[in-house]
Order: sequence, then structure tokens, then C-alpha cells
Amino acid sequence: MYAQVIVDIAHSQVDRIFEYSCPEGLAAGSRVKVPFGGRIIEGFVIGIAETCSLPADKVKPVYSVFDELPALVPECFDLMEHISARYKVPKATSLRLFLPSEMRLGKVREAQKTFVVLRDGGLSLPKSAKKQAEALAYLKEHGEAELSRLCALFGRGAVSALIGKGAATAEKRRVKRAPSAFLGGGAPERELTPAQNNAIESIESSPKRVHLLHGVTGSGKTEIYLRLIARAIESGKTAIFLVPEISLTPQMFAQLRARFKDGVAILHSGLTAGERFDEWWRLRSGEAKIAVGARSAVFAPLKDIGVIVIDEEHDASYSSESAPRYSTVEIARMRAEYNGCKLVLGSATPSVESYLKAEEGEYGLVTLPERINRRPLPEIIIADMRKEAQRGNNTAFSAPLKEELAATLKSGNQAILFLNRRGYSRTVICRDCGYVAKCENCDVSLTYHSEDNCLKCHYCGARYKLPAVCPACGGRHIIYSGTGTQRVVAELGELFPGARTLRMDNDTVSGKDGHYNILKKFAAHEADILVGTQMIAKGHDFPSVTLVGILDADMSLHFSDYRSGERTFQLITQVSGRSGRADEKGKVVLQTYSPENYILRYAVKYDYKGFYENEKQVRKATLFPPYSLICRVMVTSENDAQALSALKEAYFSAEALREKYPDKFLFLNRMHSPVKKIQGKHRYQVLMRLTDGELLSEIYEIAAAVSSPNVLCYVEENPANLS
Ligand code: ADP
Ligand code: ZN
Repeated sequence: MYAQVIVDIAHSQVDRIFEYSCPEGLAAGSRVKVPFGGRIIEGFVIGIAETCSLPADKVKPVYSVFDELPALVPECFDLMEHISARYKVPKATSLRLFLPSEMRLGKVREAQKTFVVLRDGGLSLPKSAKKQAEALAYLKEHGEAELSRLCALFGRGAVSALIGKGAATAEKRRVKRAPSAFLGGGAPERELTPAQNNAIESIESSPKRVHLLHGVTGSGKTEIYLRLIARAIESGKTAIFLVPEISLTPQMFAQLRARFKDGVAILHSGLTAGERFDEWWRLRSGEAKIAVGARSAVFAPLKDIGVIVIDEEHDASYSSESAPRYSTVEIARMRAEYNGCKLVLGSATPSVESYLKAEEGEYGLVTLPERINRRPLPEIIIADMRKEAQRGNNTAFSAPLKEELAATLKSGNQAILFLNRRGYSRTVICRDCGYVAKCENCDVSLTYHSEDNCLKCHYCGARYKLPAVCPACGGRHIIYSGTGTQRVVAELGELFPGARTLRMDNDTVSGKDGHYNILKKFAAHEADILVGTQMIAKGHDFPSVTLVGILDADMSLHFSDYRSGERTFQLITQVSGRSGRADEKGKVVLQTYSPENYILRYAVKYDYKGFYENEKQVRKATLFPPYSLICRVMVTSENDAQALSALKEAYFSAEALREKYPDKFLFLNRMHSPVKKIQGKHRYQVLMRLTDGELLSEIYEIAAAVSSPNVLCYVEENPANLS
């Protein structure tokens, strides 16, 4: 028999099938070691054949086989072809996506423990062998014991002697490293509301592959996901459930565990390597049938998938940030096609791109316009921070927020205060009139770059001087950044000395269970106020939270990104959804320097459709996605000269492409990236705006062609971040 092997080297020159002779019984999907160019390296068996194209004396045998069960399921080979063709990466790179990274190079193995099992309790021992007798008595009582424990109790010598005399045997056994405990609970299965029933009906009866489930926060989407998953399991199939950041939403996992018990396996970066390895094998072996996790769980080793769910489909974490920069939705769709199952994308605030697809009929659309039990959505109160500044209030708290906080504390409820700071980009805002510096060519906000002390447009590279006074009102109160969580907590201490406050941001959550501990405390009502960043925006369900304060709604509104309006709308909706989830009515105070902004006006009314229609017109008029495609070819290297020459090469190829297809290009330029150097690597880019994705394949070819061992070059489609 012959094995067709892809060697685990991500290089175009070896990106083909190599043949080796192999023993009978080796299955496709196995990981093997093979001799290659004078070394022994890892490879993936993607096929087994009875014949071989090499002459018999040239064929070398497979050196060794890794796992009893082939690690790759047959679907991987199909996906490998699609992914390699789509993103122009070697097959080895595509296959690596399907394995937990620590499994390659044999870094993690199964955990094993040795147990001592009693065989002959009647063995007679000499009087002098006291320790042996004690150990034997212990074994008679317990039947078996862990070797290390037995040795600790009675000494290694006594234990070996017993084994030597045949009274007991030592057995190696595999043990599972279970992910640590999460918040308990999980709601019991409930009777579905008519709206939920209709949603499930319409998804299952529709001929469409992909469905967008648009439901306001608290409309019962989660219950719909759980039922769809349960139905898949009942019919003997498996399921994938993706959430943006499972480590931040332990409640979701608790719910799944409560309902599906050990049938659920969790995959995310917060687990230890050993835990991830074991969870992965539970899925591969069929012991667990439901994979839940962040974006990489889309590659879960499941066969016969019955449904794939992507919750919060609009979330930026679904685009990969390392090679290949795949879109999770795209991969999920490939898997849904292969398995003939449904892909359900859920959100209270779908991305403009997805909603457009639903509107145009590519996706099925299911809408849940009301909360469960018609619970009202929380009232959103706008606080005009310009007025606060004029009144001389320079704290992070407006008068309405102080008032609502006082009332919340008095009634014994809880509040969440949210600071909207993602990344490090900073913008310029006038505190007197709300003016924001924008690019004259692109109509997006400018970003302050301290290293050059100037403002830059991330879409065209234009630079602007810093204004000394506000160009709109002549005021001198120009600020470059918002407030930090630390300052907010300090101010809270002065305003409400009796209140108990918790802070959750990158500085306070350390260690694997950092988030969990803070959230658990807050859930147990050991604090009155939780202050945090993006981390607290997602999916938490705290019944006694009746007030949410959004301290700086502007910070994302003016991000230098064509999606900043969309992001702001999503954030406000999502954060507001944390308030008033149980019986008491919730409130939200939204602090802003631009209360007249149309995004905020729609957000306050929870008017997604209004926001969407407006945003769609803006994107159409300015030719931004989804009415165009922004494409960035990044060139990075520690060697500046090599990076520059690769950049030139990439740019000339792109120019040649534009000459061939002039109508496809709306913009093309090469430049330093806005952040010129990260971790010692120089960064350059060719930036393009294209009318559509038709030339993508050529652009991926360009990037692959200029890549070299010293220069990393990759393509980003509609990147979430242009820094
Ligand atoms: P979403 O995911 O849309 O934000 P959830 O699924 O979290 O909404 O549901 C909101 C609340 O309503 C939760 O507390 C949930 O337990 C409850 N809920 C969901 N479905 C039902 C139902 N059919 N009957 C009663 N309560 C429900
Ligand atoms: Zn510009």
C-alpha cells in the first residue's frame, strides 16, 4: 500500500503530494513521520492507494504513525482544497488549521496515570514485611489506587514488591484534563414562544443554506440555537456553536453543559494546551458531539454536522488575524455545504454586509422583533457632554448619570459602566462644540499619531497638522483621548463612597480565570458597580443590573474606519441589552459630545432598520463596502530594504492589474502603514479599493509571489483595523 502525504512544511515548493510505502491498515487522515530530504518530518496522509507513480526502488516507507485514530476527518481534504485555492496558501497551511497547534510537533500528548490494581488479596506475607501488608490492606479496601499515591503512603519498595509477587498489577490509563469550572446554573428547557417556534420552522423548512436570525437582545435567540442543536443531536448528527469570546461568556457554556452534559466540548485559547488537546480528542472520537468555542472551533473535527450556529455574527473577532486570514463565516459556509446542513448567523445588530445579503435573498431572514414576554427594552437617556463641559463639570460623570447611579444604588440594584476603548487609536474632539477632525478626501475620522505628532487618514494616507484651536468654534478645549477605567473608579469612590466597585479591563484580568472571578463576584452581588471596557459588552446576563452607563459613546463613533458608525450602533445596542433583563425595567445613560449624530438617534430608538437603511445609502454614495472591497496587501520585514523592494514589486504587479482592468479599481496606492513598525518589523502596504471581489485571486497571487523567508506578505479583505 502507498500513502499520499502532504509534508508539514508551509512552502510552495513542496506543496504537492509525496508518496511513501505504508503498512496495510493505515488510514487517510493519519499524521505520520516520513523521511524527507535527509530528515524525518511530520506529514498528513491525505490518501491511500494500491499503486504508486514512483519506481519501486525510489519509494521510501512511512517512518511512524502518530495516533491510533486518524486526526483528520475526510472533510478536511475537501476544505483543504477550497481554502488553499481561496487564500492561495500551501496545503500544509490549510491542514494545520484543523489541528490544535500544540498537537503538531508532538508538544502535547495524552495525559496518563499509572494505577495499581489488586490481583491476589490472599497473598501471605512474612511478618517483617509490614509496609507491604499495609499497602495490601489498603488495596483490599479500595480495589485500586494511583501508583504515586500508593508510593507516597507506603514507600516505593513495598509497592514494587507487591507487584513483583503478583499481588497487584500496574496499569497505565488515559486521564482527561477537564476545563475548569464555570458559573453554574443554566436555564431549564422551556416551552418555546410562538415567535421562537416560527423561527425554527422557517429555518428548517427553507431551501436556503444560510439564515440570518435578527432578534433584539433578550428575544430568545439562545433558546433557538439550543433547540436547533438538540434536533441535530437527536437525529444522530453533530453541531458547531461559535461565540465571539467564550472565555468572556462562561454562562453560555454553563447553559450548554446543563443541557447536553458531556456531549459538549469547549475549544478556545483560554484553556491550557492539555485541556484543549483532550477536548479536541473527545470531539474527534465521537464522545462529544457539540463543539462550542471561538472562531477556530469552526475547524472542529466533527463528522456528519447537522447545524452550525454563529452567534453575534457581526463581531470582529470572526476574522482571523494570522495566516491564512480566513473569514469564519466563509469556512462555516463551506462546511455547511459539504455536510448539507444549515448555517445560522444570529445577531441583534447584523453587519450591514450580512443584512444586505439577506435583503437580496442570498440568506434567509428570520426576525424576532420583541423581547421574551414583551419585556420593554431599556430606555436610553442621552447626556450631552458639551453642556457638562460648559457647566464646568470635568469629571467622567454627567448629571443624569450621577442621578441614575444614586437611584440604582438606593434601590439595591446593580450598575455597569462601560468605557469604549478599543486598540490605541485616538482621535481629536473639541469639548466645546463636539467637532471631530476628518479627512477631506475620505470622510472618515483622522487618527492621532504621537510618533509623528500629526493626524493621519488610514484610508488614503493623507497627513494633517494638529489644530491648536478648534476649526469649527475657535475653542481651545481640544482633547486627544478619553478617560481610563482607573480614573473612573477613583471618581466613583469620591461620588459614592459607600458603593462597592469592581473593575474589569486588560490590567485587572490576569490569569486563566481572571474574568471568571470578577464576573462571579459581580453575579453574586458582591459589588454594586462593574466598570469595564469592551470585555463587559458581551452576552452577560445579570438579572439585578438595571442601569448601564456608556461613558464615551463617541470614542468608536469617530474611529477612522468606514465601519465606525456600524460599530457604535452595535456597541450601544449590545451594552444596553445588559440592562433590565429580569423583571425590573432597565435604563441606559449614553454620554456623548455629538448627540445629534444619526447613529445615536437610531440607537436610542433601537431602530436597526432605520440605521441600516441610512448606513446603506452612505456606503453606496461613498463607495465603501459592501459596495466595494477594501483590500490591503501588507508587507512586513525586519529588513527595511527588503520590505521596500517587496513592496515595490507588489505595487507594480497591482498597477499592471489596474492597467488591465481599469474599471475595477477605485483607489490604488502604496505607503507606509499608519503604524510604521511593530515588534521590530517594518510595515508597508499596498492599499486598494476595488469595485468587487473579482480580482481577489490575482491579488492573493501577488502577495504569494513577493513573500520570501525574510519578508512576510499577506492580504486582508475589508480589514477591521487599518493601523
Ligand atoms: P438573546 O439571546 O436573544 O439575547 P436569550 O436567549 O438570552 O435572548 O433570552 C432572554 C431571556 O429570556 C433569558 O433569560 C431566557 O432564559 C428567557 N427565555 C428564552 N426563551 C424563553 C421562553 N420560551 N420562555 C420563557 N423564557 C425564555
Ligand atoms: Zn483620506
